[in-house]
Amino acid sequence: MKATTERKRSTGRVFLPGSVVGILGGGQLGRMVILEGRKMGYRFVTLDPASDCPAGQVADRHIARGFDDPEGAEALAEAADVIAYEFENVSADVVKRLERKAALPQGSRLLEVTQHRLREKETLAAGGLPVTPFRAVRSPQEAERAAKELGLPCVMKTATGGYDGKGQRLIRSAEEAASIWTELSAGGRELILEAFVPFRKELSVVVARGIGGETAAFPVAENIHRDHILHMSIVPAPIDGEIARRAEKLARDVARHLGVVGLIAVEMFLLEDGRLLINELAPRPHNSGHYTYDACATSQFEQFLRAICGLPLGSPRLLTPAVMVNVLGQHLPGLLEKLPSLPPQVKVHLYGKREARHGRKMGHVTILADAAEALEIIQQIGLWER
Ligand code: AMP
Repeated sequence: MKATTERKRSTGRVFLPGSVVGILGGGQLGRMVILEGRKMGYRFVTLDPASDCPAGQVADRHIARGFDDPEGAEALAEAADVIAYEFENVSADVVKRLERKAALPQGSRLLEVTQHRLREKETLAAGGLPVTPFRAVRSPQEAERAAKELGLPCVMKTATGGYDGKGQRLIRSAEEAASIWTELSAGGRELILEAFVPFRKELSVVVARGIGGETAAFPVAENIHRDHILHMSIVPAPIDGEIARRAEKLARDVARHLGVVGLIAVEMFLLEDGRLLINELAPRPHNSGHYTYDACATSQFEQFLRAICGLPLGSPRLLTPAVMVNVLGQHLPGLLEKLPSLPPQVKVHLYGKREARHGRKMGHVTILADAAEALEIIQQIGLWER
C-alpha cells in the first residue's frame, strides 16, 4: 500500500498527497484527521484493537490489533509512509520501536512527556513556564506533607492513564491525603498532588508547529466542563484581548520548549488576578479545538496533517464566532429527533460509534453564532441536560 519508489511522494521530511499516513489510535480525532486528509488526497491506515472504530471506518485500511502487539506495529510501519499518534495512552516503547522503522514526526519524546502528568509539569516548570503548583507524592507521608505545603483543598491525580476526571480526587485534609494516596496508588500507580486552583475561567489554545519551527495558534477557547468532561467551548473566549494574546504566546512557548511537530493543546486556568497557569497538555488535536472544523480557515485536523507531512501551515483565522458542544450518549436520541428542524447555524458531527452509553462522546455540534444566540439554541435542542 505504501507509495511506491517509482512514484516517490516523499522527499526527506515532506510527504506529499498520495502518501499513506498511518494513525495510531482509532478514535474520533483520527477520524476527523482522515476526513480532512482525504480531501487533500492522502491515504490512511489505522491501528486500533477495535475493528469498527471511528477512524477505521473512514480509513483506506484498518489493522485491528492491540497497540502492544508487535505484529500490529510492524504492519503499520510497513503500510505507512509517515505515522502519527492521535492519543497519548499508547506505550512510548511501541512508538519508539515504530520511530526506528518509519517517519514519526511527532516523536516519542513528546509522548513520553505528555502521557505522564508529573513529567509534563516538571518539564514545563524547568522551562520557566507557569504550571499549577504541584508535588510528586511517593508515600502516604509525602502526600500528607505535600498537602500541608500546597494548602487545602488540593487535588490528587494519577500520573498516567487518567482522562475526563478519571483517577483524580479532591483532598480536604492532610489525613485524607494519606488515605486517598493509598487508594489511588493501588497497582503501583505514580501520583501527583496539585494545589486546587480557584480559577476564573478555563481556557485552551491549540497551536501547530511545523518541521521548520514555525508556529500558528488557533484562537483561545473558553471551556466549560461538566462532571469533569468538556461540555462546551466558546470562541472567541470572552476575555480581554491582552489575556488572549498572553494565552496564545504561552501556548507557542510550550510548543517551542517541547520541540513539537504537529499540534499541542494547552489547557490553562485563568486566575482572578489575570495570571495563567498550565493545567494539562495534549500532543494532538483536542476536543476544545473541534470548533476549528467549521469556524476557522484551516481546521486543527488539516493543520495537524500539514505539520506532520511537512507542508506549510494554514491560516488559523476565525471566520465566525462559534460554540462547540459535545454530544454525549444521553444527548443523542434527543438530538436525532430534533435534527430535521435544526436551525441552519448548527453543524452536526457524529463519530459512528454504535453504542450510545451515558457520558460517552458520540459527536459534537458547532453553532456558528455568538455565545448568547448559541446558548439559546443549545437549550432548544436539549444539549443542556446532564
Ligand atoms: P484534568 O484531567 O487535569 O484536565 O482535569 C479535569 C478538570 O478538573 C479540569 O478541567 C478542571 O475543571 C478540574 N481540575 C483539574 N485540576 C484542577 C486543579 N488543580 N484545581 C482546580 N480544578 C482542577
